Amino acid sequence: MNTTLAQEPVNKPKQPQPVSASADQSRPSFRSEVVTSHKAWVARAAKQPMVLETVDLGPLGAEDVEVAVEHSGLCHSDLSVLNNDWGISQYPAILGHEVTGRISAIGPNTKGLAVGQRVGVGWFSGSDMHCRQCMSGNHHLCPQAQATIIGHRGGFATHIRAHWAWTIPLPEKLNFADAGPLLCGGITVFSPLAMYAKPTDRVGIIGIGGLGHMAVKFAAAYGCEVTAFTSSESKFDEAKGFGANHVVSSKDSAAIKKLGGSFDLLISTVNVKLDWDAMIGTLAPNGPNGRLHVVGAVLEPIPIAAFSLILQQRSVSGSPTGSPVAIETMLDFASRHNVVPQTEHFPMRKINEAFARLESGKARYRIVLDADF
Ligand code: NAP
Ligand code: ZN
Repeated sequence: MNTTLAQEPVNKPKQPQPVSASADQSRPSFRSEVVTSHKAWVARAAKQPMVLETVDLGPLGAEDVEVAVEHSGLCHSDLSVLNNDWGISQYPAILGHEVTGRISAIGPNTKGLAVGQRVGVGWFSGSDMHCRQCMSGNHHLCPQAQATIIGHRGGFATHIRAHWAWTIPLPEKLNFADAGPLLCGGITVFSPLAMYAKPTDRVGIIGIGGLGHMAVKFAAAYGCEVTAFTSSESKFDEAKGFGANHVVSSKDSAAIKKLGGSFDLLISTVNVKLDWDAMIGTLAPNGPNGRLHVVGAVLEPIPIAAFSLILQQRSVSGSPTGSPVAIETMLDFASRHNVVPQTEHFPMRKINEAFARLESGKARYRIVLDADF
């Protein structure tokens, strides 16, 4: 792979380069147009506004695909990386990992993709393709998995690059402009449903933001009885519109305690501390379920009393997005059941306003930036 952000973006446009040395030189790379400069919104340091720069992406790796970005969703993880909330950000950073666009170039060793094809790129844009996890189809658990926006250039840009296996074809039926959020947020909440839920289950979704509202839609389409937990009263009615059968305040410990022993599966999408004891108490004594599944990146530890797990045979788990095949399966399910994220579109030049809106908690429910270079 040759897609890492090793150098700072430079402002000097460069001529297109030949494919990297590892490429099979007997097959040229293919490109729909000659791109002499790529542009991107670049964060030069933590918590700083992003600025538009010309970027040198260098030679296209032999196994890599270049995508001309059309839309890119704004996930809370973009905000957390911008602010270095997790302490793992690398600057300069180009954020954006819910990308839809058309392939503009392919390296000579790519498989199954063609220039002009509609594709998406999510949280990961590469993995080593030979470890036990990759070889067993769990590429998202690869120790070398390349996060799209950490040490790699993301999708708030004219172009993004990814390994061919992580460049996901989009079903024709899917709304192109609104499909981006499925590539990270969508798969992140679909995966635990696919892994753990049955259509007869009672499922609780905690936090009705970008991920949470898609989780409600997926769980309802799956056939589950869905309870939405939200801290925002203004979201009560809309959560029902997304398919929730019940809505409960995520801050009302008394109301949560009344639901003791109710749920087969809880999916938490929040990145804040809640009354975890009360939440875990809502899980049914119902092996193998009775599970709190955490996808929201809350930094404070979640306290768990051993007896709360032991006596009721409950579990606590977590997961990072999903494998390429899981993403394709989710996109197929979404297009079949018409699961579409509810979005607010901003032109990409308003990227800093869009980040501020997400940070304010006002986004309803996923912001998507439209490329306007
Ligand atoms: P988001 O749109 O900002 O939604 C987060 C939701 O959390 C908010 O809408 C809000 O829901 C709730 N919340 C926020 N502050 C709260 C507070 N003080 N008290 C109670 N609830 C609060 O974010 P997102 O894009 O959905 O991402 C959610 C989390 O998942 C982030 O931490 C993100 O980094 C993480 N993530 C993880 C993965 C993974 O692979 N595991 C993938 C993508 C994202 P209500 O208004 O309904 O309370
Ligand atoms: Zn994300």
